[in-house]
This record gives sequence, C-alpha cells and structure tokens, in this order.
Amino acid sequence: SSIFCLKIRTFSMATSLTIIQNFINNEYFPAKNFIASYDPAIGEVWAKVPDSDAEEVEQAYQAAKKAFSGWKKTTVEERSRLLLKIADILESRLEEFAIAESRDNGKPISVAKNGDIPRAVLNFRFFATSILHYQNRSTYQEAYSALNYTTRHPIGVVGIIAPWNLPMYLLSWKIAPCIATGNTCVCKPSELTSVTAYMLCDVLLQAGLPAGVVNMVFGYGSKVGEAIVSHPGIPLITFTGSTATGKIIQRSSAEHCKKLSLELGGKNSGIVFSDADLEKCIPTIVSSCFANQGEICLCTERLFVHEEVFEEFLEKFVEATRKLKVGDPTSPASTTGSLVSKDHLDKVKSYINMAVKQNGKIRCGHLVDDLDLSPRNKNGYFILPTVLTGLKDDSCVNQEEIFGPVVTVTTFTTEQEVIERSNNISYGLSATVFSRDVGKVHRVAQALDVGTVWCNCWVIRDLRMPFGGTKKSGLGRESQDDSLDFFTEQKTVCVKI
Ligand code: NAD
Repeated sequence: SSIFCLKIRTFSMATSLTIIQNFINNEYFPAKNFIASYDPAIGEVWAKVPDSDAEEVEQAYQAAKKAFSGWKKTTVEERSRLLLKIADILESRLEEFAIAESRDNGKPISVAKNGDIPRAVLNFRFFATSILHYQNRSTYQEAYSALNYTTRHPIGVVGIIAPWNLPMYLLSWKIAPCIATGNTCVCKPSELTSVTAYMLCDVLLQAGLPAGVVNMVFGYGSKVGEAIVSHPGIPLITFTGSTATGKIIQRSSAEHCKKLSLELGGKNSGIVFSDADLEKCIPTIVSSCFANQGEICLCTERLFVHEEVFEEFLEKFVEATRKLKVGDPTSPASTTGSLVSKDHLDKVKSYINMAVKQNGKIRCGHLVDDLDLSPRNKNGYFILPTVLTGLKDDSCVNQEEIFGPVVTVTTFTTEQEVIERSNNISYGLSATVFSRDVGKVHRVAQALDVGTVWCNCWVIRDLRMPFGGTKKSGLGRESQDDSLDFFTEQKTVCVKI
C-alpha cells in the first residue's frame, strides 16, 4: 500500500477547473480530449471530463481481468474489511463529497449531505457486512441418496454504467456488491456528473484496494458505454439510466448473451383516497414529486385524487408546493436546486408548454409564478415546481417520463378505475397509495403493476428488500440478496452417497 500512497492526491474545491483523469490499474491517466462539465446552478464550466473511447475501455478491461485472478481468491473477510475501510474514508470526507456532488448535479448541498453521500457510505458498509452472511444452499434427496449443494462464484469483469441524478449513491450501490462478491469492474459514470466518481478513486487508493479491482473510464455513453457493453470479455452489465439507453444496451449485449441488470425510467403514480389523512400525506407527496428537483426515478409524476377530496387536496398541495424554496444549492435555505443541464431544463419546459397546448392548466410553478434567483444563479438551469391539471391520461405529458419537478393531478371515482388508470402506462417502477383503510391499501398495492408500492409514505428504503421495475422500467432487482445473486454464478453439485 506504500506505492498507492504516493499516488494519493487530495481533491481541492478550488475555483479553478477540476481536470478529471481516467483511473486504470490504480493509476491516473491524463486525457487527450475533454468534455466540458457544467455547474448547472451558475451555467459555467467547472470540470473537464475525459472524452475516452474504446482504447481506454480496453486498457481498463485488461487491468480488471488481470486483477480478477487475485481478487476472486481473497477471503470474504478481507474484502469485507476493505469495503468497511472505503466506507470510513468516504464518511470522513462527507462534506467535501457533498459539495462536489451539489456543484456537479445542481442539487442542494443539504440534500447531498443528508441523502446521497451518507447513502453511498451505507452502500459500502451494507455489502461489507451482507457478504459475511451470504450462504450456499443444500438439499438431500433420500430416495436417491443424493446430496445437492450450491457454490457461488464471482463472474469476472463487470461493466457498471451509472446516471447523473444520484451519481455517487447509484455508482456505489453497484460497485459495493460487485467487488464484495469478488468481481472486478470497469465503471462509467455519467459524463454530466463525473467529479465524485473521480474523487472516489482516491478513496479506493487510500483504502488499499488492489490495482485493477475498480477502474473508472470517463466519457460519453455512445463511446465508452458502447465499448463496455459490446466488449466480448465483459459478461455482466449493470446499468441505471433511461429506458431508451436500456433498450440499446439490451440490443448490443445480445450478441454475447450478457447477464443484465437494468434499472430504467419511471412514470410513477400517487393515489390519494378520500379517507387519506391529508395533513399528513401532503408533505410526503410534495417530497415524492419534487425531491431532488423531481430528478429521481421514483418521483411521482401522476397524481390521482379521489373526487370527494380533490379540491381540498389541490388547494393544500399547491400551497405546500409554493413553499418550496428554489435557489442556490449552496444555501441551506434552498429545498430545491437547479436541473442538471440546459438540455434537460429545455426538455422539462417543453412538456409544460405541451400541457398548455393541450388545454392543461398550470396551478403553480413555471410560467405562472416568479422564479426569484440570486444574481449568482441567474444563468443557472432552475425551474419552479409545477402542478398541472386538466390533462387526459393518454396525453404525452401523462405517458412519458419528464424526470423533473412537474406533476399532473386528476380525479378518480372508484378503486377499480384508479387501478386501471394507474396501470395504463408502459412503465412500472413504483407507486404510492394514501388511505387509512388497511384492507384497501393492501388490495390496491397487490393490483398495481409496479416493482415497489409505498403506502402512506415514500422512499423508506430497506436495502434488504428488492428494488426494480416491471415493464419498461427494467429488468431484475437490486437488494442484499438480489445484488449478491446477480454478481455471482451459482453452481449446483449433485453427489450420490
Ligand atoms: P441515460 O440513459 O441518458 O444515461 C445513463 C448512463 O448511460 C450514462 O452514463 C450515459 O453516458 C450512459 N449511456 C448513454 N448511452 C449509452 C449507450 N449507448 N451505451 C451505454 N451507455 C450509454 O440516463 P440519464 O439521463 O443519465 O439518467 C436519467 C434516467 O435514469 C431516467 O430515465 C431515470 O428514470 C433513470 N433512473 C432510473 C433509476 C432506477 O433505479 N430505475 C434510478 C435513477 C435513474
């Protein structure tokens, strides 16, 4: 580890540009070409991300392949200890990581500090300890005198591709189980938010992770991502991102029959029954629609409210939404930061414009309220949380994932009707149900065609529980057991005794 120490550099949050380098075999490689990465809260370039291609992916693959032969033989306890060390170092630098995540993504520092980075720490800690309890199975068939048992094996070099909305949170959610089970990896963070992944490389070095176990290649999806997905030596791809990219990955990995985990988009509904406790549920629903600027795959974009409470709900919901403070992510007063990019802001606005054309009514937010920004943020990509009514279920605003702080609200009359309307979508990631009737809550939860249903709450996560989507929201599940299973191959041995 003394050699590693020489390569450790502290990351400074200076005003100068952060120049990111690829991290391969525990070494940093300066890039030839760069992608400009913006601080979306001020609309200025703050980092330069390597514009890598297949050549760097190949280099990273060779390092990961070489490392695999040693890493897979390490004991579970050894890997667990290293993951715990990574978690501790990351935690000791929480503030620095939170500030960088906020600058890269636009989310308030408070959100990164209380949400993203602590969760990344937990991801490493969680799999460091889970792996100690991961067991094989065995059966005995008396009639044949046959003893069956399974053994689990790491698979090899894994391709990890992550999105920009929860950069460190989602990247670590994949790296931790991948290396805990004895695999090595080539990772590609989003080109829009690569800084914390780059900072993580120093943490890995400091923790003493052997060379080549985790490699980070930065760049575009169409170059680096494609090269990882189509690489014949990488049998496993774990991807979180849009459904459109998920489809491309499925197609290009089909040639090699790769094992895939795809966590894709959502268009999640929230259902408010007339017996819901409105005072309690409104703050939860406001979070479910607008947390992280609505840029969470689990955010609610369609609200169905029972006709008996529709007017009362709408009034209180709009009032609570207007209280959100959109502004400078560095200010503790801001609940909501900027969107991740100019392109994304334009996309979100285009859905609101479309809603207006289709006779939708804006109840609060974009185009009707004033966005009050400090001079520092006047060129940032901010938008007010926006509530829309009067749109048909089949309008594109109600069918396509917007992935921003925009929600539509409509009324419903019967339980059966709202189940059908909620399911009438190509996505199936999650849903929320609000009611005081225990039987109804369970009945509706069973009828919804989604991976997760939150009842009278939103995003309480137990990492032991499966997470993933149905339909176009993805393939497979991630959790303690699901992730450990995904990253290992099981072998059944039958012995006649
Ligand atoms: P994206 O699909 O544009 O990009 C995700 C990653 O894939 C990026 O690193 C990107 O560079 C890479 N990529 C792009 N094209 C590629 C290609 N052809 N081959 C390989 N890699 C490629 O998604 P995004 O805009 O970064 O993220 C937002 C999306 O992610 C939303 O749809 C959101 O719902 C989804 N998401 C899903 C979950 C979940 O758990 N289901 C969680 C977070 C985000």
